[in-house]
Amino acid sequence: MLTGNEKASIVNKRSEKTDKVVSKCKEHVSKAISIGNEIVAAEAKGAIIQDVEGNTYIDFFGGVGVLNAGHRPEPVVNAVKAQLDKYIHTFFHQVMSEPYVDLAERITKIAPIEGPAKAAFFNSGAEAVENAVKVARSFTKKQGIIAFDGAFHGRTLLTMTLTSKVKPYRFNFGPYAPEIYRIAPAYCYRCAYNLEYPSCGMYCLEKFHKFFKSEVDPEHVAAMIIEPVQGEGGFVVPPKEFLPGLVDICKKNDILFIADEVQTGFCRTGKMFAVEHYGVKPDLLTFAKSVASGMPLSGLVGKAELMDNPGPGQLGGTYGGSPVSLAAGLATLDYIEEKKLSEAAQKIGAYSVKRMEAVQEKHPEIGDIRALGAMIGIELVKDRQTKEPNPEATSAIIKACAAKGLIIIAAGVYGNVIRMLAPLVITDEQLAQALDILEESFDEILK
Ligand code: PLP
Repeated sequence: MLTGNEKASIVNKRSEKTDKVVSKCKEHVSKAISIGNEIVAAEAKGAIIQDVEGNTYIDFFGGVGVLNAGHRPEPVVNAVKAQLDKYIHTFFHQVMSEPYVDLAERITKIAPIEGPAKAAFFNSGAEAVENAVKVARSFTKKQGIIAFDGAFHGRTLLTMTLTSKVKPYRFNFGPYAPEIYRIAPAYCYRCAYNLEYPSCGMYCLEKFHKFFKSEVDPEHVAAMIIEPVQGEGGFVVPPKEFLPGLVDICKKNDILFIADEVQTGFCRTGKMFAVEHYGVKPDLLTFAKSVASGMPLSGLVGKAELMDNPGPGQLGGTYGGSPVSLAAGLATLDYIEEKKLSEAAQKIGAYSVKRMEAVQEKHPEIGDIRALGAMIGIELVKDRQTKEPNPEATSAIIKACAAKGLIIIAAGVYGNVIRMLAPLVITDEQLAQALDILEESFDEILK
């Protein structure tokens, strides 16, 4: 049994134990379910995944942002087991469950929403986003939704339309959902307007004047949706003025502001929710991923008058708010607070950025390092002047890391950003080893 204190160790690279699963996967699982690593899990704890070969890996992607509290925190496992012994499912719309109302109470208290708030639960991040749009349209009686270049909001028809990466997410899947309007975010390393912060004077906010003339009239726009730090888009951290500026524009034009905190929530950025860094309060906030330590759970929290606007039965679903996932969510929130994971995220972020900045001095291919708490992105380019994206080196480094016992993944519209999403319970020794492996892999691939 793993303790969670193990280090990365590749003892037995590959045998028929892995081969059997890989060949079954090739035969029976849709190719559209992409496979990044031919690693088969046997057990996981904290920041460690052990495979069926006995290799231990440091998890630097946290089940894609799901495991801020680590793999299998003991109180979460116990809460799930206790709930399984009571009941698994009722269908909340007919027979209520205590975990549903308890987590709703908890979330409405911690969410940075102005005034009374209400919540509803679903299963995936995409579902939470779909419901945010439904609520916004229902309340405003308007249809338009503003989304951003580089955004990722999910894989359903509406959310892939809101997403701005064609391959793989939207390719061949049209026609897309109507009434989505797109504008550039504050991605300062690759400013859409070729300007420099701060001398730009936040032109990306100014640009809305023209946008409302050339693209869509605000009278037609129900909501603006944004990830406070873009995830899939490449861990794009906007300057401090950007989100308050957007909220201002929304307020002036009767547009609702939706923060998609599916990836940024639950202490990843060093605060419970990333919008708290910017001092803004969204009208609606979506969450998922790390809320329940890997049990499928998502939700929408927002101003009570908005959340109460659709009529009975207009939101919900068969599985929305599984009692087992909600029990995991309640225990995860306790654990996050008890272990002070916001502070841990800040420490992990500061240490990792310092280490990576030293690596950047050796390698001109590292164009940009950006972070908010422990949401850290390293953008690779072929040339620091031209900033031509370097997805080839990015995937070679990721592969080299996996061979040494570190699982890490890419992000970015060009696939040229290495993203770090380590569980926030990672030990100091594991973090140091992970960054050693990352540095060795940079040295090996970039020479
Ligand atoms: N929104 C954001 C910001 C995300 O990062 C994701 C997933 O990565 C989603 C929505 C979609 O979540 P799910 O994959 O659970 O549908």
